[in-house]
Amino acid sequence: MKKDLHFESICALVGEDPPSSTRPLTAPIYQASVFDVESLELVDDLYEGRASGYIYSRDTNPNVSILERAVADLEGAEDGVACSSGMAAIGVTLLSLLASGDRIAASSELYGGTSQLLRNHLPQLGIATDFVDVTDLPSAKEVLRRSPKLLLLESISNPLLRLADIQAISDMAHRQGTKVVVDNTLATPFLLRPLALGADVVVHSATKYLGGHSDVTGGVVVANREIISSIRRSCQIWGTTLDPFAAWLIVRGVKTLSLRMERASSNAGEVARYLSKHGKVGAAHYPGLPHHPQNQLAQRLMRGGFGAMVSFELSGGLEAASTFVRSLQFIRFAPSLGEAQTTLSHPAKTSHRSLSEEQRAGAGIGDGLIRLSCGIENSQDIIGDIEQALNKL
Ligand code: PLP
Repeated sequence: MKKDLHFESICALVGEDPPSSTRPLTAPIYQASVFDVESLELVDDLYEGRASGYIYSRDTNPNVSILERAVADLEGAEDGVACSSGMAAIGVTLLSLLASGDRIAASSELYGGTSQLLRNHLPQLGIATDFVDVTDLPSAKEVLRRSPKLLLLESISNPLLRLADIQAISDMAHRQGTKVVVDNTLATPFLLRPLALGADVVVHSATKYLGGHSDVTGGVVVANREIISSIRRSCQIWGTTLDPFAAWLIVRGVKTLSLRMERASSNAGEVARYLSKHGKVGAAHYPGLPHHPQNQLAQRLMRGGFGAMVSFELSGGLEAASTFVRSLQFIRFAPSLGEAQTTLSHPAKTSHRSLSEEQRAGAGIGDGLIRLSCGIENSQDIIGDIEQALNKL
């Protein structure tokens, strides 16, 4: 049919038909902003949920659906929605669950971007936050007594790697009618599943372990169908949808999530034990170390390891941190986490730089604090690089 059309029309219609009906083993990238809908009847059915299919990629796209289903299954959730970044996932979750005049509670130790959102942006929408040390159950109980609309916390906190008793907190929160939202980015469902412990919503920065190769930015929220359909509407209207190629890359990362988490967590355990005995290290934070304040809790909540992140305080403060970063040979200073290779970050200068010096001190984030994201290399090489850099201090 197309060969009978004019040159301009053939150009405009190129690329519409797939070459064959052969099924690829891995889903192809549906790099399409819009889909061909056969009839007005079908469009009604699609919008009303009577038929499944796709219309417009800001609403959703096949690659995005594959990712949403995968993370929902891994977290044991009914449904999920993928967003353009972890912050987008957290943002639309809050936008959809909250309204002006609401009060919420949040962990006093959160990723810097989340903390900024709660401290500087939500108040503009009339939403106030009470911060609380969620590792301290009596304090959490006190804050929950005020029946906040929701409680937001991280399953393993960033950067000091503390754990909250999600089960006990969820029980207390539900008695007050408070929903519990857990950022499970650092743990991943391989190590910990907050919904099984009673949480209502789980959010992820898929930029980290789910993607796993430092080549994509994305976020995912999972929960029951009702909550997700409300978050999905916010995501569609605020336009924070994930794009198909990003979804495809994250799905590719998820295929190896368990292998990467197993190896990286085992490496982190070895690195943490090494650092905890080193004279130039003031404190090593790792949930798997016996002296970690929530080591018992970690043993109860986590399966398959204690995570791939290790934080440690260099006794020599900022100067020592600066020399350490410059002396490393293959471990790169890359202010993110969850990559296949080991990277490090300096929270005071990066993720938590928007906090005042006082807020950082209150949160225990000193100038000598280094946050290491262990990768899947041989652990002896990771420790070797750290050792030669510590020797320069
Ligand atoms: N949550 C945690 C625990 C994070 O560490 C980060 C980023 O570092 C985010 C959320 C935000 O994710 P993104 O950078 O994908 O927006």
